[in-house]
Formats: sequence, C-alpha cells, structure tokens
Amino acid sequence: MKKLSGDPNKNNTIQFCAKDFARTLCLTVTEPLLILDKDFMILKGNEAFCDLFHIENQDIIITSVFEINDGVLNRPELHKLLEEELAQKEGVQDQNFTFEFQMERLVLSLNASRIKLESEESDLFLLTFRNNLEHTQNKFSIEDYKRSINDIFVHTPAMICILRGPEFVFELANESYFQFLGNREIIGKSVRDAVPEAENQGFIQILEKVYKTGEPFIGNEIPIKLNIGENSQKLSYLDFVYQPTRNSKRMVDGIFVHAVDVTEQVVARKKVEESEIKLRNFIDTVPAILWVTAKDGSCNYLNKNWYSYTGQKAKEAEGFGWLKAIHLKDRQIAGKAFIEANRLQQPYRMTYRLKTHDGKYRWVLDNGTPKYTVDEEFDGMIGTVVDVHEEKINEELVREKEHRLRTVVEEATVAMAVYTGAEMKIELANDAMILLWGKDRSVLGKTLHEALPELDGQPFHKLLKDVFTTGKMHWGKEERADLIINEKLRTRYFNYTYKPLRDEKGEIYGILNMALDVTQTFLSQNLLKESESHFRQLSNVIPNKVAHTDSEGNYVYFNQSWIDYTGVGMDELRKDGWLKFVHPDERKETIRKWKHSLSTERKFEIEARFLHKLGKYKWHIIRAEAIKDDNGRLKMWVGTTTEIHKIKEEEKRKEDFLKMVSHELKTPVTSIKGYVQLLLSILNSKKDLVLDSIPLKPSLERIDHQIIRLTRLISEILDLTRIEEDELQLQKSVFSLNDLVDHTVQDIRYTNTQHHIKVDHNYKCKIYADKDRIGQVLINFITNAIKYSPDNHEIKVCIEETENNLVQVTVKDKGIGIDKTFHKNIFKKFYRIDGEREDTYSGFGIGLFLANEIIQRHNGFVKVKSKFGKGSDFSFTLSVASENQDN
Ligand code: ADP
Repeated sequence: MKKLSGDPNKNNTIQFCAKDFARTLCLTVTEPLLILDKDFMILKGNEAFCDLFHIENQDIIITSVFEINDGVLNRPELHKLLEEELAQKEGVQDQNFTFEFQMERLVLSLNASRIKLESEESDLFLLTFRNNLEHTQNKFSIEDYKRSINDIFVHTPAMICILRGPEFVFELANESYFQFLGNREIIGKSVRDAVPEAENQGFIQILEKVYKTGEPFIGNEIPIKLNIGENSQKLSYLDFVYQPTRNSKRMVDGIFVHAVDVTEQVVARKKVEESEIKLRNFIDTVPAILWVTAKDGSCNYLNKNWYSYTGQKAKEAEGFGWLKAIHLKDRQIAGKAFIEANRLQQPYRMTYRLKTHDGKYRWVLDNGTPKYTVDEEFDGMIGTVVDVHEEKINEELVREKEHRLRTVVEEATVAMAVYTGAEMKIELANDAMILLWGKDRSVLGKTLHEALPELDGQPFHKLLKDVFTTGKMHWGKEERADLIINEKLRTRYFNYTYKPLRDEKGEIYGILNMALDVTQTFLSQNLLKESESHFRQLSNVIPNKVAHTDSEGNYVYFNQSWIDYTGVGMDELRKDGWLKFVHPDERKETIRKWKHSLSTERKFEIEARFLHKLGKYKWHIIRAEAIKDDNGRLKMWVGTTTEIHKIKEEEKRKEDFLKMVSHELKTPVTSIKGYVQLLLSILNSKKDLVLDSIPLKPSLERIDHQIIRLTRLISEILDLTRIEEDELQLQKSVFSLNDLVDHTVQDIRYTNTQHHIKVDHNYKCKIYADKDRIGQVLINFITNAIKYSPDNHEIKVCIEETENNLVQVTVKDKGIGIDKTFHKNIFKKFYRIDGEREDTYSGFGIGLFLANEIIQRHNGFVKVKSKFGKGSDFSFTLSVASENQDN
C-alpha cells in the first residue's frame, strides 16, 4: 500500500483502504461495532449495531455518530470520550452508557480505540458495544408488572379470565367477567361446573379444540345464554378470543380468554335488520316499484315489483343496470336526468317507456327524491316507478285529437271556431270564420262578447249558454245574424251548429261552432218562394186545373180548382194522382199517352172525361208540358186540365144535327142528281137550247157540279159520324196508285177547268188499300189546293218513293199558304183557320180531319209543308203493296 503514497488520487485510495478495512472488520466482529472517521462520521456499522439500536444499515452511512437514530448517541460522555480522551490515548475500555427505552433500561459497555492506518493521513475510530446484562434490566419490577396487569384486568371493559389445565379451571378472572357471570363463585372451578349452561352452547368444544391444537379461536358476535336465577336465561353476544397459554416447555397449559360484550350493538343492529326486513317485506307488498340509490347514484335496492315488472334479475339491475330496461329512445334522457338530479341532490321526475317481462314497452312515471342521513348528509335517492301507460296513451290521444281538431279547424274551408269556458273564449277560429265575422285574427283569445259585441241582444249568447249547460247540440237553419262588417251593420243568414266539446271525463269544456253563410241562397230562395207563391196564387184563381210534378213525374202540386172539382184534398191528390179520376173508357189510352210522354218528354195532350165530386163525368182537355232547365234537363211537368164539356156537348149536338141533316138531305139530293143527269142526257143533243134567256145545259151542268159538292159534303159528314162511332169500314184491294191519281185528276179537271193540274209519276206502284177512301183523300187535297189558290192556278201532283216500299203522293199549290202556327191543328175536326179567310173560303173543317183518319187507318201518315202566302204541299205516305197482296 505504501507504493501508492504520493499518488495524485491519494484521497480515493485512502478512502478505499479505510472502507475496505471497515468492511473487513464488520464481517469479522460479531459484537455491535462502529467505525468512524476523524470527524466522527460513520464509515461502517455492522448488523449487530443496527439491531441493537433498531436502525437500518444504510441510514447510518456518512452520518455523524451523534445524529443517528434521533441523536441516541449524542451524549456528553461520548463527546468527551471521542473528542478528548481518545485524542490523548489510543483506547478507552468498558465505559458504561445507559439507554432508557420504553420497556427496558439498556446498559452498554463501550470500548473505543483510535486506529492509525499506514495508508491514512488521519486516524479512524473503532467503537464496540457490549450489552452489559448485569446492569441491563427491565424497567418494571415483577410487582409493577403484576400491578399493571391487575389494573388492566380490573379496569378493562373487556372480560378476561385464565383457564388452566384440560378441565379449564378458572384461575383468574376480572371484575367484568365476574359481573358477566352474575358474580358466581368460579375461581378454582371448572367451566363445566361453574357455567354448566355453556356446555350445550358449544363453548367447551371450542375450548377443547384450542387446547388440543394450540390454535387461538376468535369468535364474533357469538350468542351465549346464561342462567339468571333458577328459571330464566339471558342472551348476550360476545366477541371473544381463546388464546392458548404455554408452559416453559411450550406445551399448552391453559387458555387466556378475552371477551367483549357486544349484546347492545348486536341487538340494536338486529333490530335495524329486522325492521329493514320488515320494511323490505312491506315495500315488496306495495303495488308500486320502489328504488333506493346510493350517494353516487348507483342503485342498491329495488323492490320485488321491479323484478316482476321488468323481468330483470337482481344482478342485472343493480348499479346502473336498471337503465337497460328503459326503451333505447328514452334511456339516455332518463339516465342523464337521473344522474343530474342526483348530482344536484334534487327531486327527479321522468316518464319513459320501460320494458316489461314479456318484452313489451309501457309508459311509466319515475319519481325520486333525495334522502338524508340523521346528520342531514345527502344519502342518495329514493323513488317510485308507477305504470302510467294508459294515462299516457290517453294523453297522447287527447293531444293527437286536439292537434287534429286544430288542423281540421284551421284548414277547413267551412267556417269553424272553438269557444272554451262558460265565458266563451275564442280558442280557435279559422280564416273562413274570421272572414265571415268580418274581423281579423286579433279576436283570438278574446271572449265572443268582446270580439263581436254586436251579437249582444241577438239570440246566440243564450243558445251557446244552453248548449254549454245542457250538452245538447244546436242546429241553426237560415238564421239571421247582424254583424259589423267593414264598420257597417249587415244582415247575414247562416246555417250553423253549436256542438258541445267534452273532455275525457265527459265534462263540457267548450263549443265547436261551424257555420255556412247562406245569405245568397236564402235571399234567392226567398225570391223563388215569393214567385212560387205568386204562381200558386195565380193558379188558384184561374178556373183551369193546374198541377205539376217533379222531374220523375211525382205529383208535387194541384191547384185549388183540382181540389174543388174532385172534392179530394191536396195530400190525397199528391199521393194518388189524377188518373184515377179519368173515365174508364179513356183511362187506358190516357195512361198509355202519359207514359209515352214521360218517357219521351214530348208534350202530352188528350181529351178525356173526369169524375166530378158529385159523381158525373165531364169532358176535359188535358195538356202537360215538360219544363226543362237551361241545360235541357227535365225539371218538372206542368199540366192544365180544362173543362170542355160544354164545347163537347155542343159539338155533339152539331154532329147529331149534321148527321140528321145529312141523312135527311141524302135522299132528296140523290134524286135531284138523278133528275139533273136525266135532263142533261136529254139536253145533250140540244146544246144551245135556251129557255126564257136561260141557257139550259150550262145551268144544269152547274147544278150537277153543286150537287156533286153537296153529295161529297153529305158523305163527309156521314163519314165523320162513322168515325165517331168507329164504324168506318175499309174495303181494301190492290190497285195502281198511279191510275187512281190519273182518274181522280181527270174527274176534277172535268169540273175545274180554270186550274191546271199536272201529275208527275216519278214512281209507279200498286198499293193495298180502300180505293174510294184514298180517292177521297186525293180529292180533298186537290179541291183544297184549288180552293185556296185563287190567284195561282198551277197545281202539281207528285207520286214518288220516299223510302224503301213507301210511296208518297203530294199535292202542291202556290196559293195562300198556311202559317206554321196552324200546322199542328189543321188535321183536327172542324178546325178552320181564323180570320178573314174563314169567311172568304167556305168549308166545315172536316176534309183534312177525314183525310188524316183514313190515312192513319191505312197505317200511313199525312204531312203538311206550307208557308203563309207561298202555297202548300199536302202529302200522304202509304206502304207499297207487297207481291202476295198483288191480285
Ligand atoms: P175546309 O172545308 O175548311 O177546307 P179542310 O179540313 O179541308 O176544311 O181544311 C181545313 C183548313 O185548312 C181550311 O179551312 C183551310 O184554312 C186550310 N187549308 C186546307 N188546305 C189548304 C190549302 N191547300 N191551302 C191553304 N189552306 C188550306
């Protein structure tokens, strides 16, 4: 080591050597040992030293010896020894140091020496300690110990005893123990003898086990029943330890018993537990879901109802698991609201859909309030969950209904308003209603009285009040309301309803008002009514019978004349109609024609007898016309029935008279004609015979001509009666129509030389008919043409085919013509055109009637085409004879 002296790293080397030295020493010396440098800093201390002073080895290195372990060695004697004594001598021996520890007084004998190492510049100090057992002693004396043990025994609230030997004989017991056992005599007695009731309660077995195994036993809240007096027992709860005691040979020789009476706590806790169980049982019977959460919001209790309602298991629901039973759509909101309420320690209220055990969702109301400990500290929440599904659905329905009502009201084109409360607050009114009132939207929210003050004094407030109180709906038809529209009071007419609105309990909360402005219709209807009543009044004063039907022919109205004539009331007439009053002879035809008119909408006209209330039938002419609207649709039938009985009778008399006259005239006229013919044949040779300036032959010829006319007239009148009596016989045969026309024209030309009659045979045919009768028709047409063409002598007869197998014979003249208005009547019996011409042209108005009848009886038809002043075309059309009719 010497060679290292003078080395620049000398210090390190010294240190190293000192350390090395110290370590070696520490390894070899077993006694407590310290090695210090010149400044008394610890270079090393061995384990024995550390043990002695209860310090960790590393804590002492590079620490001053006076500082270790809170200065345990910072003693003046040590300062003196190290700083003074060892400066003078190399070592000091067996210097005693006394150390006071908690439980003992330690006397250490210190040996210290100064060591001079060759390599070191300064010395090291070596300190060894030896436990001077002679002087080291326990702090307390046996007496002290015993006393303090006794103190502990006596004063400890615990019960202590020592049981000795395998029989567990009480060797020692403290006051508490004695008291616990009811101050029995126990010392020197075995447990079995002293506390016989303990045997059946398992204590002796435990003691035996502890004794046998040497393992201590710790019992918590173990119940023990002790006899008090002769018959009663007291139950106590003990926390106790059976600690085996051992002799010097380490053999178990007894048991130390330390017991604490915890009866009060146990009983109190049991009570709490019991009441909690009771409460839980009670809570489980409550028909609601109950829950309890801890401070942090996690759920620590849910009553049975939760589990049966949701089907969740206890494990699933605890903590925040209950949230999983909430509908996904509500879960987050409900969860957040709950956590927030819990954080703010505020009540919590939430409706959400909860999944039920069968997988359906139902609306529930979750209601929680914070709960507090006795110290008024927040202790989580407690709450209930109630099924409100039906209510919620109803609520939604009501809301939906209300929404629908609002949209219906607002969007309806018909005016609508809703008034609520007895004060009739305008809750809703759509634009149509506001327009109808002539107001603006500011009326909303006001009462009806405020919004429409002009209604005061009108019947509406009273009506609304009645509806509100009685619940009976009110219908108003064409009712008048005076409203201020554009600052002017105007009269309007409305069809409206007041309908009571009821809440879910059925109580009336408002009125729905729907209204339709019918002013226009009302006014025009009134006009119509007026004109209708005028019409009725008018129709009642006229002597004619007037009636009208609806478009289907149902009777609507009969005037007073009908009622007076038939003697039947309006209702019966409307029900049964007029046909039943028609004479049976005409009834069939009347019904046929009426039906025909109804189906074709053509004009109806017939003559028929009607039964008078006194039982007589009287002739009437019935006319009915279809009345159509602007679009040509049938509206109604209006009919007039005019009595023509007198005319008819007169006609009859005229006919009877004519018939009689004709009969009477027929024979003389025939004989006159015979004589005239005879005279003419005689005179044929004496053409120019003149008698008393009268040219005989022309006179006779004129007489003959007049007789022909007279004969025709007579036969026409006779035909007329035949027709009336339906006795007109037809002698049908097939003949050439062309020939008939030629012959007839020939005959007429013979007597009428003035007129030029031209015949056009455009078509040649035969017909199957009564030749004389068709000839008669032709004669009538041609003689009329002659008669009514005084200034134009051109007459044309045309035979032509109109349609397949139909032949038409037309007689055309260029005479006076007939105005169109008369066309429809000229084929009627006795019809003659009024006016001058009636007198100018002689006649009876029978010819065309007969012609028409004859042609109709041949299933043909007659037609007239004529213009006033332009001439006339009269024609008849007949069927061409068929092959087999040909003979
Ligand atoms: P009348 O004996 O009066 O001629 P008719 O029955 O033959 O009776 O004719 C009826 C009416 O028809 C006549 O009164 C006449 O006014 C009118 N009439 C008939 N034929 C013609 C005609 N060719 N031209 C003008 N008027 C005619």
